[in-house]
Amino acid sequence: MEICKLENIRKDYRMGELVTPLKDVSLTVNPGDFIAVEGPSGIGKSTLLYVMGLLLQSDNGTYTFDDKDVSLLSDGEKSDLRSKKIGFLFQDATLIQALTLRENLIFSYNLIKKSPDLKRVDELLYRFGLDDRANFLPHQLSGGQRRRLMAARCIIHEPSLILADEPTNDLDEHWSNEIIAMLQQEAQRGAGIVMVTHNSRWAQLAGSRYRLDDGVLTDITKEEI
Ligand code: ADP
Ligand code: MG
Repeated sequence: MEICKLENIRKDYRMGELVTPLKDVSLTVNPGDFIAVEGPSGIGKSTLLYVMGLLLQSDNGTYTFDDKDVSLLSDGEKSDLRSKKIGFLFQDATLIQALTLRENLIFSYNLIKKSPDLKRVDELLYRFGLDDRANFLPHQLSGGQRRRLMAARCIIHEPSLILADEPTNDLDEHWSNEIIAMLQQEAQRGAGIVMVTHNSRWAQLAGSRYRLDDGVLTDITKEEI
């Protein structure tokens, strides 16, 4: 069974001028899929992830998650799906400034009402090169270190869908490769990954590639680029 499915999704913003970043978007994410969505800045890539992450309601079309039409879910049900089933790797995601890195990761377990697996917390801190920063506060991190902590937080609850918005921004070559490798491993575990990027270099490492242009997605996996 698929993880989620967008059918003919439209999304308008009506702040003054009408903007329609998504006109007719259809996409199915199955377990193990690693999908890259490319497109220039301002085209609607983040909007697509907000709709998929149940953060924005679409204006037309159907979005099903876990076989449920999300437009029929209550806010509480949506928030439950978000915290348990979805991993977000977003640029503007926030950390709790009063908690240390380690506590921020433990807090993520508390959000989904699971008792924290402290071994996994420490393994993830080590994996992302933050073990010597475990007791630091978020403001004591560099941009790249913060991004690596976000990566750890994104996968700590083993989400079924991972939404990554330009995940390699602010990262050097080494850590960019690590993040892509992490996404590939998560796909092997059975998660579905949707990564948006304006950098085709990273998109080439995904299993399938789409281009978002003029509000529609085109499959460019087999195109020579
Ligand atoms: P991308 O992530 O590809 O850079 P976005 O999805 O952020 O693109 O934005 C797509 C378009 O929608 C842009 O023209 C942007 O200005 C507009 N937009 C994004 N968010 C809002 C909003 N909250 N209100 C009005 N317009 C918005
Ligand atoms: Mg964006």
